[in-house]
Amino acid sequence: MIIAIDGTTASGKGTIAKRLAAYYCLPHMDTGRLYRAVAVAALKQGVALDAAGPLADIARTLDLNDFVEHELRSAEAGKAASVVAAIPSVRQALFELQRAFATREGGALLDGRDIGTVIAPDADVKLWVDADVTQRGVRRWKELIGHGEQVTLESVIEQLKIRDSRDQGRADAPAAMAADAILIDTTDLTIDAAVEKALAAAEAALARGKTA
Ligand code: C5P
Repeated sequence: MIIAIDGTTASGKGTIAKRLAAYYCLPHMDTGRLYRAVAVAALKQGVALDAAGPLADIARTLDLNDFVEHELRSAEAGKAASVVAAIPSVRQALFELQRAFATREGGALLDGRDIGTVIAPDADVKLWVDADVTQRGVRRWKELIGHGEQVTLESVIEQLKIRDSRDQGRADAPAAMAADAILIDTTDLTIDAAVEKALAAAEAALARGKTA
C-alpha cells in the first residue's frame, strides 16, 4: 500500500503524514527534508542556488545523517529548498531515492508536493492538504518563534505566498493536487480533527480500491 500526502507549506500535511504512517504502520519519508538538505548543503559549501550541476551532485550523494534537524527546519532552509526544488536535475537526482522508498515491499507513506502526481501516481491513497494562507502563516510563525527565530507574522505570510507561487508555478513537477486526490482543508480544524478527517478519507479510498 502506498499513501501519498501532498499539500501546501504549513497546511498540517507533515503532522497528518506522521500520524497516518503510525496508524497504518508504514515507513514514512518526509520528502521536503531531501530538498531542504540539498539547500542547506549548498549554503554551507557556498554553492549558488542556481548552479544546476553542482546542486545535482549534492543531491546524488546526499546523506541525511549529515544534518541536524533545526538547520533543516529553519525558514532560510525552507526558502532555499523551494529555489533548488525548481531545478529539474535536482529533482531527477532525488527521484530514484523516493521511488525506491515508495515501492518498498510492505508499502510506504510519503509526503511532499509531487508524490501523487510524479513519484507515486499509482498510490492507493492520495490526499492534498491545504488551508487558508493566513491560517498557515499564523501556524508557521508560531513554530518559528518557538524555535527562537525573529520574524514578523506579515513577513511569514508573504514568504508563504512567494513559496506557494514558486512551487506551483515551476515547469518541472509543480506542486499540484492529483486529479484523483482527496482535498483535506485544515483551515478551521484542530490538528486532531484534521488527522481524523484525513484518516476517514484514507479509509474511504482504501475501501473503494478494494471494490474497484
Ligand atoms: O515540505 P517542506 O516545507 O519541507 O518542503 C520544502 C520545499 O521543498 C518546498 O517548498 C518545495 O519547494 C520542495 N519540495 C518539492 N517536492 C517535494 C517536497 C518538497 O518540491 N516532494
